[in-house]
Parts: sequence; structure tokens; C-alpha cells
Amino acid sequence: MSGGTFMGMPAFPQAAKAALADTRLRANLTHATHTIRTKRATAVAELDDWNDLREAGKQIKDHTLAHLDTYLLQLEAAVTTAGGTVHWATDADDANRIITDLVHATGHTEVVKVKSMATQEIGLNHALEQAGITAVETDLAELIVQLDDDLPSHILVPAIHKNRAQIRDIFTHHMHHWGRPAPDNLTDTPADLAEAARLHLREKFLRAKVAISGANFMIAETGTIVVLESEGNGRMCLTLPDTLITLAGIEKILPTWQDLEVFLQTLPRSSTAERMNPYTTTWTGTTPHDGPQNFHLVLLDNGRTNTLADPTGRQALRCIRCSACLNVCPVYERTGGHTYGSPYPGPIGAILTPQLHGTTTPLHASLPYASTLCGACYDVCPVAINIPDILIHLRERITQGGSAQQQGRKVTVKPAKGHAAERAAMRTAQWALTHPTALGTAQRLATTTRRLHPRRLPGPGKAWTTTRDLPTLPPTAFRAWWKTRSLPTSAPAQNGRTTP
Ligand code: SF4
Repeated sequence: MSGGTFMGMPAFPQAAKAALADTRLRANLTHATHTIRTKRATAVAELDDWNDLREAGKQIKDHTLAHLDTYLLQLEAAVTTAGGTVHWATDADDANRIITDLVHATGHTEVVKVKSMATQEIGLNHALEQAGITAVETDLAELIVQLDDDLPSHILVPAIHKNRAQIRDIFTHHMHHWGRPAPDNLTDTPADLAEAARLHLREKFLRAKVAISGANFMIAETGTIVVLESEGNGRMCLTLPDTLITLAGIEKILPTWQDLEVFLQTLPRSSTAERMNPYTTTWTGTTPHDGPQNFHLVLLDNGRTNTLADPTGRQALRCIRCSACLNVCPVYERTGGHTYGSPYPGPIGAILTPQLHGTTTPLHASLPYASTLCGACYDVCPVAINIPDILIHLRERITQGGSAQQQGRKVTVKPAKGHAAERAAMRTAQWALTHPTALGTAQRLATTTRRLHPRRLPGPGKAWTTTRDLPTLPPTAFRAWWKTRSLPTSAPAQNGRTTP
């Protein structure tokens, strides 16, 4: 895995098998996810009105998504009036081209970046590199991943799969390739590692002329962009350079400042378990002699309007990228983020990636199955996205072979090869359940021959029964038992009919 993209990743089951064999990875993940989830639970429990905030967040997001066209145009007008320029990108290639052209127009070949999921989604660093532009990640965890030529594995903590000793080695061996080297005899204490990163990055901040950021929220009524971060690196990127380019998914919009109030309470507690976010930067267009003098906002679709067209799946667009669902997911905890083959790992990745990009690859078609459906993700989600519901919905689309009629538009979903057996089983079950005589005969036959049944399935089913026992059939089929049971005396019901 190198080169900074997720292209060519295998389907989830193959990737997970390799990840499960990595005991150090599992130890790092278990320690980190358990620590974060415990802190989050404590921070959330402090608020008596958490459920009200959660419901408010859900309703604000749903209202905004229902009127997205109106609010996007309002935002564009407000940003333009405030001195910014708005660009519309239909897909990743479009967004990469727009941003690359904007950087080229400045005449500079190095940009500093604030941590951004949207730029990861479109593979921006790779596109900039192809165009001769160096993008320097300034978030500590993103810096670690970049120095190691690795990929992020968590939304909030991209280097969650690394421990302190690994990070020290990465700094020692790779920092000098990018600028100021790591100090001699660097230890793996958090203070020393943070100081090494600070010294390295300070040089970058002070000479940067162009910065690229994402956006946590965009306020339609004033055209204001909001970025939340914890290290202060974002504040440096958003204020020091001459040119600021912000890439944001179209769903990041909120109608008013008052709406922001809800998310400034729920996002920090859900992500970093903090009562209040350490660095919240807001800006509106440009201000003479204060901050970047050129501001460009690139609004990204990249599959979002397709997702919006699906009444069940559109809930995923409420996501505020807090990562709480990752930290409680038993599958994520054991496999890590790389197995999901996209910058969006864990439960949100399992529902978002197949909707943004379709299920035409084995990897994307396998993601809705990367879950036990335990529901822990839904319980912690601060905007109440019913992730298990969407997972089942996507599985249904895939096994049905794929097309779903969505608000008058046909959305094609290509079935994965690996699910042919499942489709055949479902067709057989459908036939049996609509032919009661045949079903009764099969049940009688099954119960009378139960002593001859194998305890393990042959062929492809063998893998499933290696770790599970097939249930033992009872001596009497349910229908036969039902006919023999003695029924209680019927009692008159209030509506005049009788109930058993
Ligand atoms: S789906 Fe919910 S819990 Fe998961 S990252 Fe998004 S907002 Fe957070």
C-alpha cells in the first residue's frame, strides 16, 4: 500500500483476513478505540438534554437536505458578496482539476493542508503531486501517515493504527525528506513527538502562500465557513497564507448560525470527548489586510445527489464525521480502517462509500456486509443515522441484482459475483414459501431424516460451519406440532369477532 490512494484495494473479506492476522494492529486498535469510546460516553452522559440535541441535529440536517438547492444558492450568493469565489465540482476529477488550476494560477508549488476528509475522498494529494505541487499535511496524525507513505485508517485519528514507538521511527527516518529533520535521540514520549512535529511544521506555516482546507459546516445565511480542529494547525493554515481554497461536500451546509449551536455541542463530545472544541475558526469571504486575500470555495457533489435521491440511504448525508460509530464498532475494532478501501472506514464508510461510488466493484459491493448489525453505531450517532437500516437496504439492493427506482430515476447497482449463491438461496426460499404443500412435505422429510444430516456443510458452506454448529432439527415440524396442540376456548372480542 503506497502512493497515497486506496485504488486497487481488495474486497473487505480478503483485506480483513490480512488485518486480523496482524496482532500489533489489533492491539493498537483495541487500546485506542476503547479509550476514546469510554471518554465519549462520559462526556455525553454529562448532558441531560443529549437526546434532544441529537434529535435537533437530525431534524436540522433533514430539513437542510430537503431544501439543499435553495440553501446552496443562498450560500453561493453570500460567499460571492463577501469577496469569495464559488466553484461547482460534479465529481472527483472535476474537483481535482479546479483546485490544481487554482494553485497553478498562484505560481506556487507547495501548499499546506488542514485535515480534510473531502480532499482524501477525491485523492487530491495524489492529483497535486501529478501536477508538480507538493501538499503538506499539517494535522499531526495526517502528517504521520504522509511521512510514512501510508493511508489514513480513522476519520478523526488517521494514524490510530500506529503506536508511539512506530511514530518515533517514522519521524526519525522520514521527516528530513520533507523539511526540518527530527531532533537527534528523539524519544517516543507524546511531548517530544509533538515538539518534533511543531518544529517541522512551523517552517511550513511561515512560508506557505497557499492553503487547502475542508469544512465542517457552511452557514448559508452569511456564507461563513466553519472548521473545527484541536491542534491549532488549522488556524495557522486558515489565516497566514495569501490564498485559501476550501473543498466541501454539498451536504455540509446549515441554514443559520443558530443551527450551528447544536453541532458545536454534539460534535466535540462525540469525536474527541471534549465539552468544547479547542480551535473553531470561522471566516466569511475575504477581509482587506486580514487573513487570506483570495478565497475559493469548491462545492463537491461526487455522488451526493444520487445518495440524496434514495429515501433510506440519504440519512448518510447527515453525517458530521465525528467517528463515534467507528470507535464502538466490533468489526472496525478488529480489522482497522484500511480494510474498507476508502477514507471513510467503519460503519459510516460501509454505507457512504457504496452510495457515493456505487457497488460496481467487489470492494464497494462487499462493504454493506462488513457489519454484525449490532446497532452500536446507531446508538452513538449524534445525528441518529440508522446505519443498520441502511446496511440492510443496501444488501437488499445488491442481492436483488440491482436496480432501485429512486424518485423517478433509475440507479443501477451491479451485483457482486460472490452473492450469486445468496440470490439463488433467496429464490429457492421464495418458491418454497409460496408453495405450502411442497414446503410441508420438505419439512416432514427433513424431520424424519434428521439423524442422517451432516453437522458440517459441504462445499462453500464449509467455511461457515467450521466455526458454527448447524442447529438440530426438532422431531416434529412446526406445522405438524401446530395441528396437534389443543386450542384454548375462544373468547368474544370487543369488536364482535372472536380471538383465539
Ligand atoms: S455516522 Fe454518525 S457516528 Fe458515524 S461519523 Fe457520522 S455522525 Fe459520527
